[in-house]
Amino acid sequence: MQGLMMDMPLLVSDLIRQADRHHGVTSIVSRTVEGGRHEYNYRAAHARARRLANALARLGVRAPDRVGTLAWNGYRHFELYYAVAGSGAVIHTINPRLFPEQIAYIANHAEDRALFFDLSFVALVEKLAPQLPGVKHYVLMSDRAHRPPNCSIPNLLCYEDLLEAESDDYVWPRLDERSACGLCYTSGTTGNPKGVLYAHRSTVLHAYGSSLPDALNLSARDVVAPAVAMFHVNAWGLPYSCALTGAKLVLPGAALDGKSLYELFEAEGVTVSAGVPTIWLGLLQHLKANRLRLSSFKRVVIGGSACPPAMIRSFEEEYGVQVLHAWGMTEMSPLGSVCTFRAKHLALDREERYAVQNKQGRTIFGVDMRIVGGDGKTLPHDGNAFGDLHVRGPWVTNGYFKGEGGDPLRSDESGAQWFPTGDVATIDADGYMQITDRSKDVIKSGGEWISSIELENIAVAHPAIAEAAAIGIAHPKWDERPIVVAVKKPGAEVSREDLLGFLEGRIAKWWMPDDVVFVAELPHTATGKISKLTLREQLKDYRLPAETGAARK
Ligand code: ADP
Repeated sequence: MQGLMMDMPLLVSDLIRQADRHHGVTSIVSRTVEGGRHEYNYRAAHARARRLANALARLGVRAPDRVGTLAWNGYRHFELYYAVAGSGAVIHTINPRLFPEQIAYIANHAEDRALFFDLSFVALVEKLAPQLPGVKHYVLMSDRAHRPPNCSIPNLLCYEDLLEAESDDYVWPRLDERSACGLCYTSGTTGNPKGVLYAHRSTVLHAYGSSLPDALNLSARDVVAPAVAMFHVNAWGLPYSCALTGAKLVLPGAALDGKSLYELFEAEGVTVSAGVPTIWLGLLQHLKANRLRLSSFKRVVIGGSACPPAMIRSFEEEYGVQVLHAWGMTEMSPLGSVCTFRAKHLALDREERYAVQNKQGRTIFGVDMRIVGGDGKTLPHDGNAFGDLHVRGPWVTNGYFKGEGGDPLRSDESGAQWFPTGDVATIDADGYMQITDRSKDVIKSGGEWISSIELENIAVAHPAIAEAAAIGIAHPKWDERPIVVAVKKPGAEVSREDLLGFLEGRIAKWWMPDDVVFVAELPHTATGKISKLTLREQLKDYRLPAETGAARK
C-alpha cells in the first residue's frame, strides 16, 4: 500500500520561492567586486533570478546545458545558482585560482555553453577564450559602465543589460528531482580533475540536513557570511540552506583576509560563518594584533582540512565563539559530519570537551559511514581501529561525470555500495569520527603509520607557530620519517630544538620528527588548504639530518 502523501519533486527553485514567500524582506548583502556594498532581499533576488532565467532561454541555454561561472561570493553569483539550476540547466562553478590550462580543461570537459565571470577575471577570460570552442556566450557579471574597453572576449555581453531586457514573468519548470543542477570538479591532485554532478534532490536534501541543530544549526535569526567560496563545493551549500531557513546572507566578495572579514562581521552583525582553517588563522591574527572583540559572531564552521585544537581553544576561550568542526568533500555536497556534543558531554570539564571537539564529529542523518581494514572488512567503532573511511547517502556521488575514473564505489559484506573517501579515520562508540589522515598524506615509518594531522595539531599549539605541515621524507631504513615544516607567527622566535622539545612527551617517541624546517610561508591549494603536493615538490632536494629520531624506536 502506498502512502497518501503529495508526491512533490525536491527542486532548487523551490528554495528561492520559499525564501521569497516567507522571508521576502530578509537581506542579502554583498561586498561587490566593483567596490562598495550592495543590499537587497530574497524577494528582489528571486525576481532577478527569474529575469535571468528568461535571459538564459533567449541565449538558447536549455536543459541540461552547462553554464560556467568564474566568480566570487556575490549577489549575481547567487542569482545564477537559482536561475541556471531552476530553469533545468546545470551551474558549473569553476575555481578561478586554478591554472588557466586546468580551467580550460574543466570548462571543455563540462562542455560549458556560456561563461559568466566577475570583473576581476576579464584578463583571465581573454586568455581562456581561444581555448574554449564550446562557449557560445561570455557574460560579464557587471553593468555597462564597467565594460572594459578594447576587450578581446568575443561577443561580450553584460549581465545587467541582459536582465534589463527581460521581464520577471517566469514560471520555474517542474523538473525531475533527479535531474542534474550543479557541477563541481575535484582538485584532481592525482590525474585530471573529476566532475561531481549534483541533483536537485540531493541539493535540497543536503540543505535540509545541513541546517539541522546538530549540523550547522541555521535559522531565520542567523546572519550567515560564507567565508568559503561559492566555487568551493557551492560554499558548502550555504546559498541553498540560507534560502531554506531564511537566514540573512552576507556575501564577502573577494576579500577574505582577517581585516576584511572582521569589518564585515561587525558591520553586518554576522552570527555564523564557515571556512577552511587558513581563513580563520588570518582572522585570529588580525583580532589579536589589534586587540579586537567580536560582538555578534557566535558560531564558526571550520572544515576542509583538520581544525587545529589551538584554533578551537582560541575561538572559544578568547572570543566566545563556538567552533563547529566539520568534515566533508566535493563528492558529498559536501557535508558529512559535524562535531556537536551529546547531552552527556555537557557535564565534562573543558579539557575533556575539547578532546571531543577535536574530532570531525557525528554524521548528519542522510550520510552513513564505515571504516574498512586492508582486507576490505568493516572495522569496529571503538575509537581505536582505523581504516579507510567509506560513506553512502542521498547526497553522496555514485560516480564521476562522464564516468571519469571508472566506478568508484565499493561493496560491503551485504552488497551495499559505498564511496571510498580517501581518508583514514577512527569512529568511536558514540559515533564520533576522527580523521587520522588522508591516505596519501599518512607517514609510513617502520611499517607503521604516523598521523601528519596529529603532528601538525601539536606543532601549531606552540605559541610561536602560526602554521605547520608534517610530511614524510624517504628514509633508507624506515621507509619514511616525518619532518615538520613550520611558519613562525609574526615577530615570534622559536628554534628547531624548542619545537622538538615541545613535541616531546606529547607524542610517541618514534613519531618524533627528524627535523624542523622553518619557512616564510606554506604553499596553499586553490581552495586555501595547505598543499602537501607542492610542499613535497619544493622540498625534493631536502635531505634528512644524518642522525635520525627513528633510531630511538
Ligand atoms: P580537495 O581538497 O581535494 O580539493 P575537497 O574540498 O573535496 O577537495 O576536500 C575533501 C577532503 O578534505 C577530505 O577528503 C579530507 O581529506 C579533507 N577534509 C575536509 N574536512 C576535513 C576536516 N575537518 N579534517 C580533516 N580533513 C578534512
